[in-house]
Amino acid sequence: MDAAAVPSNLTDIAAINGTLQALLATIMVNMITVNYPPSAEVPDKAEYDVIIVGAGSAGSALARRLADSGCFNVLLVEAGGDPEIQPPGLFILFTGGAQDWDYHAENNGWACQAQNNAQIGHTRGKMLGGCSCLDHLIFIRGSSKIFDDWEKMGNEGWNWENCFEYFKRIEDIKDPKILNSDTLKYHGQSGPMVLTPTTNKNFSEKGRFHVEML
Ligand SMILES: Cc1cc2nc3c(=O)[nH]c(=O)nc-3n(C[C@H](O)[C@H](O)[C@H](O)COP(=O)(O)OP(=O)(O)OC[C@H]3O[C@@H](n4cnc5c(N)ncnc54)[C@H](O)[C@@H]3O)c2cc1C
Repeated sequence: MDAAAVPSNLTDIAAINGTLQALLATIMVNMITVNYPPSAEVPDKAEYDVIIVGAGSAGSALARRLADSGCFNVLLVEAGGDPEIQPPGLFILFTGGAQDWDYHAENNGWACQAQNNAQIGHTRGKMLGGCSCLDHLIFIRGSSKIFDDWEKMGNEGWNWENCFEYFKRIEDIKDPKILNSDTLKYHGQSGPMVLTPTTNKNFSEKGRFHVEML
């Protein structure tokens, strides 16, 4: 092969690869676009018992629980719009776009010195659902020590024994290995969050036992 032809061939392959990726992304975006209901109108002088700023994972769950209680009139405010697509696995398409706050780390003279401007991007979701609409959908519970340490730091009641019950309540575990094992007692089966086994090959067999996909 002519040595001079190699760089140009590589450039061609990169260009074709880029075009195919963009085409695939467009097809997938169109396939999985979701129509969300319109945002609520907030009339002048409206009053609310609770106003939650930020409809991310925490804000949305909190708003839902408070509204479901029937005791509170709740306003949930979000800076971003509806998610353009529902991933899963397409989080990469959001990076740096309108639905990413697109934060960058400061150059502290130490970290990220190999990056452009010695800064690394810090993706954060700016849309209904917040980061949960562009995250990797991996579900890993912390170890009991982490939660017990929270309480030791002065957060009364935030120990593993208490938090564990809430984890169980949100889970609907579908992993056949767990369903047929003694560890089933550590999981819930009637919560709103369906958990399936990960297919990610980066996790070892043992690791996959602790990692589930939303
Ligand atoms: C790329 C990426 C991958 C991740 N992967 C995983 C994973 O696989 N598994 C996992 O468990 N976790 C993952 N995470 C972490 C997880 O998604 C977040 O910890 C979690 O979603 C944070 O929830 P939150 O409600 O605290 O904040 P956010 O979800 O960030 O919500 C904050 C919301 O507030 C809004 N907001 C901010 N300022 C204002 C304002 N002034 N007015 C109105 N609205 C405002 C934002 O737009 C946003 O919607 C990932 C995170 C990222 C960024």
